[in-house]
Amino acid sequence: MDLLSTAEAVAPASELRNRADIPDRFKWDLADIFPGWNEWQQALDELEAKIGAYAARQGTLAHGPDRLLAAMQLADDIGQLTYKVWYFAGLKHDEDQRDNTINAKRQQVQILFAKASQASAWFNPELLAIPLPTVQAWMTGQPGLAMYRFALEDLYRQQEHVLDEKGEHLLSLASRFSSAPNDAYAALSTADVKHPAIKLSTGPEVTLTYGQYRAILATNRHQGDRATAFEAYHKMFAANLNTYASLYHGVLQRDWFHSQARGYRSTLDAALHGNNIPPAVVENLIETTKAGTGPLRRYHRLRKRVLGLDTYHNYDAAIPLVDFDHKYPYEHVQEWLPASVAPLGADYQGHMRDGLASRWIDVYENPGKRSGAYSAPVYGVHPYMLLNYNDTLDAVFTLAHEMGHSMHTILSSAHQPFVYSAYTIFIAEVPSTLSEALFLEYMLAHATDDRERIVLLQHAIDGIVGTFYTQVLFADYELQAHRLVEEGRPVTSDGLSEIYFNLLKTYYGDAMDYDELLRITWSRIPHFYSTPYYVYQYATCFASSAQLMKQLTTGSDADRADAVGRYLTLLKSGGSDHPMPLLQRAGVDLSKPETVRAVVDQLDTLVTQLEHAIAKLS
Ligand SMILES: [Zn+2]
Repeated sequence: MDLLSTAEAVAPASELRNRADIPDRFKWDLADIFPGWNEWQQALDELEAKIGAYAARQGTLAHGPDRLLAAMQLADDIGQLTYKVWYFAGLKHDEDQRDNTINAKRQQVQILFAKASQASAWFNPELLAIPLPTVQAWMTGQPGLAMYRFALEDLYRQQEHVLDEKGEHLLSLASRFSSAPNDAYAALSTADVKHPAIKLSTGPEVTLTYGQYRAILATNRHQGDRATAFEAYHKMFAANLNTYASLYHGVLQRDWFHSQARGYRSTLDAALHGNNIPPAVVENLIETTKAGTGPLRRYHRLRKRVLGLDTYHNYDAAIPLVDFDHKYPYEHVQEWLPASVAPLGADYQGHMRDGLASRWIDVYENPGKRSGAYSAPVYGVHPYMLLNYNDTLDAVFTLAHEMGHSMHTILSSAHQPFVYSAYTIFIAEVPSTLSEALFLEYMLAHATDDRERIVLLQHAIDGIVGTFYTQVLFADYELQAHRLVEEGRPVTSDGLSEIYFNLLKTYYGDAMDYDELLRITWSRIPHFYSTPYYVYQYATCFASSAQLMKQLTTGSDADRADAVGRYLTLLKSGGSDHPMPLLQRAGVDLSKPETVRAVVDQLDTLVTQLEHAIAKLS
């Protein structure tokens, strides 16, 4: 998860093994889904037949609880089959995306999805025409239907902001140009962009693509080169600054239009309604983080000192504190990972060992393979994980992260009926970041080299800065920008730059030297255009996971055992309730300052450990 990147995954093309030359034990085995394409085709045909049967149920719901139950069960059948049919083709495609035959099969499923969504469009309006008390009485009398209580009642809750047929039709017409500001942003910043050429101190001239820019900031130890890259990169955006401001204004007005049309008080209310999150959560997140910038500033002051810099800039924040080129072979990590989750109990470790031993993971890169990493929840089978493991520390933590997602899938699928097996993004990044935190503890406890300890600590700290502090700053910016249009105030590039610059100063205080071009940072953040009010969820997940980590690793044996039980219950609960009550039952209340402060405390501890490790080295 790289939240600051604009685009482009840089894949090292050298020394790639052909897929056929990689031993089977490092490749996933999709035969657990279907033995082969024939069986896949049969399932696809079956799926199509079931979709037809679902469409034929239109007009039956009002006839009583049995008909409603039958429709719900058929929808579940379709859903389960969909996972298998989709992922078999999708995962095969990701093994080698150059294979057109497989890509065509994948597209066949996508076409069927479009049919399925048409075939089920009747359900919500037909259900919602029946008064909720009637459906509630049905659920009381029909035990099979009672299982669907949360799902059904939530449809009625969502209904509050659904308009009449005429209104919905009008909104659906408007939605066709909703994506224009983001499409134009993508075209301006990617397709039409002219990447500048810069000259580095060592002599060569390089074209400053997004990948090149990130690489210079993360690896070039010459501060002058980083400054040159920073300036050229930001001037590229400055050249079109008023256009970026207009596009962003379009995003703000669109959000406000939809919020007003649906009767929300604010754009924030509209964004939070889906998951039933109280706005106080975001306000608490922003206020408590602003009050907790002490360790963030200490970290950057420490970096300035260790790197031996006279001035410290935004472009100095990604360079490693020490050089440490250690390799982490996959075989070692396979042992360490289950060991790191010992605090969660033997069952949990056992599930993880199963996954590592049973060909759930596609480990190494090969020509044509999809880049990055993910965990795919194949309900009724097991999760699959795609990696591009390259023996670096980043790759190790990526595996720990994806393993967290997979364990969530395993526990949720084992304990929830299909309808509640999927979890929301608001919870999803809790187990993944917690898995990383446990792995860090394990690695720190076993590190024998001071340099390795420093690298581990920096990795963890940079994770908190990037996934937590930066995302909360972004959320604050989005909130302030949206308030401009809500209050009928003008939106200009100067105004947006002022909001962003003030936020930077609030966070970094005197721990950083500010370049004028930093003001326009807002113009280059893709998430502001593509997914407004989204990234705060990474920060709330991080806060939840920090609070859980605290409960899992401190206090008496009995307290810790309770915390483990509550945490496993959270994972087993899947999507059976809204995120807030699920987290509250796990001991996490996101509306309370102490939850957010758990991250601040975590960072404080890590920075102190880093100070000690550096003192030992020098
Ligand atoms: Zn994740």
